[in-house]
Amino acid sequence: MKAMIRLKPGVEKLQAYFVNDIPYRVKLDANEGSNYLLKGGFNINHLKPNLYPDSDSRELRRKMAEYYGCDETNIMVGNGSSELINTIVNAYCDKGEKVMSFTPSFSMYQTYCDLCGAEFIGIETEEDFSQNIDKLILAAKDQKPKIIILCNPNNPTGYVTSKEEILKLLENIDDSLVILDEAYADFSYVTAMDLINTYENLIVMRTLSKAFGLAGIRVGALVANAKTIEYIWKVKVPYNLNIYSQYAAIEALSNTDGVDEYINDIKKLRKELYMQLEDLQFQLYPSGGNFIFTKPPIDNLFEKLMRRGVLIREFIYKEKVYNRITVGTKEENQILIDEIKELIGGCL
Ligand code: PMP
Repeated sequence: MKAMIRLKPGVEKLQAYFVNDIPYRVKLDANEGSNYLLKGGFNINHLKPNLYPDSDSRELRRKMAEYYGCDETNIMVGNGSSELINTIVNAYCDKGEKVMSFTPSFSMYQTYCDLCGAEFIGIETEEDFSQNIDKLILAAKDQKPKIIILCNPNNPTGYVTSKEEILKLLENIDDSLVILDEAYADFSYVTAMDLINTYENLIVMRTLSKAFGLAGIRVGALVANAKTIEYIWKVKVPYNLNIYSQYAAIEALSNTDGVDEYINDIKKLRKELYMQLEDLQFQLYPSGGNFIFTKPPIDNLFEKLMRRGVLIREFIYKEKVYNRITVGTKEENQILIDEIKELIGGCL
């Protein structure tokens, strides 16, 4: 057999993003939501799989623009916001150019940098995982990153950067593209979407994977001023969103009546889960997302719960173990709490 052709050196060191395929009873590990918008199903018989989809996803962009209160010229859609973040990092960064973000944050930012040879610079969050914008501004003035990515609310910590702090960042940074990853913004109260026409260097990322409960259809959006969208259209992969995803997203966006109620339910459940975990001596951090970041009171909680069919996420930061738990339905959260109670009982 001939030798395997090697990947680029910067890419070869990457760890593959393998996703858990363990059988489970309750899945609280990926910040997914409930399927409430398309629960009635939809008919796809009229779609034509032999033809390419609308490469520009015009109808979908019109629907999104209506929902987000902007113009369709402010929107580019992609195969989840993942595709769009990757595209942007690749398009703006040559080898060696810098991308700055806080750590811990969404781990894929670093991966997208590695793919194109950009240098990822992580600014450490504070002890309580709050994000010091002054520190970020100072580091940016010093290191002049091509891109600054701020995840708001932050995944995995749940920290919410205030509008004032976002404005401070935008006012103080002129030479970097600022990406605000708002994958979870529907669950908080802060968005920078209204600022896209004020700051030409601002891009806001949104997704239907979280508050819309549609992670499976892979639809995300990049929202920016029309000039920026037109400028970056050249790097959009043609036909990037298939006919089924476009159709499903249009269907979902055609009746968004239930979205606010769903978001409010999740916020209520988040509060309840927070209190239940607090009673069980978990160290907790305030969260603006559909998840809770926590330092558990017992060792190996992630593995112990996994053996009982309850999936959560484990993060190791500065040699300490943390968990991120997605807020599930009332029943799912109760199963989680019951299992934890049994585990903690077993430890006493
Ligand atoms: N940004 C953040 C902060 C995320 O947590 C995720 C998904 N986990 C994404 C972006 C990507 O979401 P999607 O590709 O499903 O739109």
